[in-house]
Amino acid sequence: VEVHFEKEQGLFEFFEEPDTVRAVDGISLDIEENDVLALVGESGCGKSTLGKTTIGLQRPTGGSVRYRGQDIWAAKDGVGDVEIPFDEIRSSLQIIHQDPGSSLNPNQKIVEILSQPIKLTHPNVGLNERRERIYSLLERVGMNPAADFADRYPHQLSGGEKQRVALSRALLMNPDLILADEAISALDVSLRVEMMDLMLDLQDDFDTSFVFISHDLSNARYFAEHGDGRVGVMYLGEIVEVGPAEELIEDPGHPYTNVLRWATPNLALDAAGAGEPPVRKIDVPDPVNPPSGCRFHTRCPEARDVCREETPELRGEPGGHQSACFRNEPDHKYWDSQPVED
Ligand code: SF4
Ligand code: MG
Repeated sequence: VEVHFEKEQGLFEFFEEPDTVRAVDGISLDIEENDVLALVGESGCGKSTLGKTTIGLQRPTGGSVRYRGQDIWAAKDGVGDVEIPFDEIRSSLQIIHQDPGSSLNPNQKIVEILSQPIKLTHPNVGLNERRERIYSLLERVGMNPAADFADRYPHQLSGGEKQRVALSRALLMNPDLILADEAISALDVSLRVEMMDLMLDLQDDFDTSFVFISHDLSNARYFAEHGDGRVGVMYLGEIVEVGPAEELIEDPGHPYTNVLRWATPNLALDAAGAGEPPVRKIDVPDPVNPPSGCRFHTRCPEARDVCREETPELRGEPGGHQSACFRNEPDHKYWDSQPVED
């Protein structure tokens, strides 16, 4: 899956907001097969929008999202030569929401909920075969005995169990990519690691890619590290840093990643006990009107005059460790520019 949003036109709308929000802007992102990407950032930074746009649930107002080379929205609109039908794209790209209950019909038993997508995509599959497939998936996500759980209604399940049902439903489609949008945030803390481990096991077993969205850097780190993938850090609609988890956290290339690390108690490595977070004490800017230049400049302790005027781009090895900060460009005029006064 390849997501490319043009800087000039890459605007997305949050429909609940009256104003147009630049939720995701100027992002170019490749997700390979069997890839793991953990997206982290404060709420409102655009990570959900990026995720939803990636899997064809939200239409970008500019730029393009390509799945195996096919523009997703051109497929939906029947524009040009459509190589992969939109229905096929949508079933290859699955989502797990934060609130597992919201996507499960309360009036249907689990077996009925899981039967539906099979009936739609494989109308010739008989009842027995369907049940067999459903039971084996329920077992695979840790719901034993499967026949017992299959017979229950969603309200008879715990939050973790509902999330397992959502996972098995996503897997029914043999997806190429699963987007887990804060999928563990509502779960009991004691369950989170278990669920991450399960998702990573399934990622491996089913040869699917995983985009794991979280506001918590330590969870993002865990997921990316154990899935041998990358962490992407988002700030006000932009990816400001991406790279292998350990490298990114031990040696952040962007001052904002450092702030996130500082704010995450068990990751506040060298900042432990330092007292002050490495950030200017001003409010997070309104995403409707993001700051000019580097969007982080209003909070960045390293900001210089030039950071207000120019926008840094992601630099570094594509697919490796990349960050968007002038400090990392030794020849940039950042170094001749004046530090911003407090
Ligand atoms: Fe801070 Fe400037 Fe780097 Fe932006 S470009 S993160 S303001 S130093
Ligand atoms: Mg979100």
